[in-house]
Amino acid sequence: MAKQDYYEVLGISKSATKAEIKKAYRKMAIKYHPDKNPDDAKAEEKFKLAAEAYEVLSDENKKARYDQYGHAAFEGGHGGFGGGGMNMDDIFSQFGDIFGGGFGGGFGGFGGGSQRQARVKGSNLRIRVKLSLEDIAKGVEKKVKVRRKVKAEGVTYKTCPTCNGSGQQMRVTNTILGRMQTATTCGTCHGAGEILDKKPNGADAQGLLTREETVSINIPEGVTEGVQLKVGGKGNEAPGKNSIAGDLLVVIEEIKHDTLKREGSNIHYDLYINFSEAVLGVSKEIETVTGKVKIKVEPGTQSGKILRLKGKGLPSIERYGNGDFLIHINVWTPQELSKEQRRFFEEMIEDDNFSPNPQKTDKSFFEKVKDMFS
Ligand SMILES: [Zn+2]
Repeated sequence: MAKQDYYEVLGISKSATKAEIKKAYRKMAIKYHPDKNPDDAKAEEKFKLAAEAYEVLSDENKKARYDQYGHAAFEGGHGGFGGGGMNMDDIFSQFGDIFGGGFGGGFGGFGGGSQRQARVKGSNLRIRVKLSLEDIAKGVEKKVKVRRKVKAEGVTYKTCPTCNGSGQQMRVTNTILGRMQTATTCGTCHGAGEILDKKPNGADAQGLLTREETVSINIPEGVTEGVQLKVGGKGNEAPGKNSIAGDLLVVIEEIKHDTLKREGSNIHYDLYINFSEAVLGVSKEIETVTGKVKIKVEPGTQSGKILRLKGKGLPSIERYGNGDFLIHINVWTPQELSKEQRRFFEEMIEDDNFSPNPQKTDKSFFEKVKDMFS
């Protein structure tokens, strides 16, 4: 199901100011607050979504990322809420800011929902992997060394005595409008519901230690510069019995090729032939990303001609089939001539065979460019 646009959720335009965003969220939070809509799952959903939208749009960094990439900017959990939305603790902890403490009385924490406990997830790790065009053409398995936090051997955790495992504490504050009760993240366990019980030697205060591991990454064919792949569960582990490990995010970097130029799934190659080869024709062996290919340049080939090897480019990551390998013919005009050569060319200046005579079938540079992209 497509996720609703955050601006739509709050009913504001993309050019809304900070104050307008805040005001819109305030309105939504009051309208859909669980206390006002008991046992209404739809309202709760809207309440959460509005909080999530506000969390992103009120933060300049997150907003910029969202404006550029949409919801994709926060996939994989590195936006602070991985797919499952925000939990109620996070939402209520926002309220101090939104209602400035002046919005008391009515909101008494969050009824039945407060027992729900978020699973603690370790942080993500991010690495860059450099790939040659040849790797990209075939897909490749890369082994990388990653330093990640893991639970130490023999570590044990126990239920947090402060919050009895719920991960949150109720806090009552007195405001002008009356008593306001909010649920806040437990200060002892920071919301995990568990604390360290037995700490093995060498482990840190959370019972974790840092270890270097070799992780094997299967990189599909056709990836492009900047693409981010996710290896689930290979990020840092988090403390706790029920915690889950973060992810390893792999950012693809493309190594520039000496002679080949990539354009999407097409590959361009400049082939230089000499004047005689252009006149007489020639066979050439060309290195593509998937091996050598023999090509024939016909006698009388014009400079600027493009030979297209269909399907010899790169696979597209969306699996639309392969791109093409485009050979651009460049005829090298001799720059130094012997006496005899000079005499020969001088004689040819007025020769009919040497006079340009482009046919309708000889496409102009612009037509060729147009063809290439069609
Ligand atoms: Zn606790």
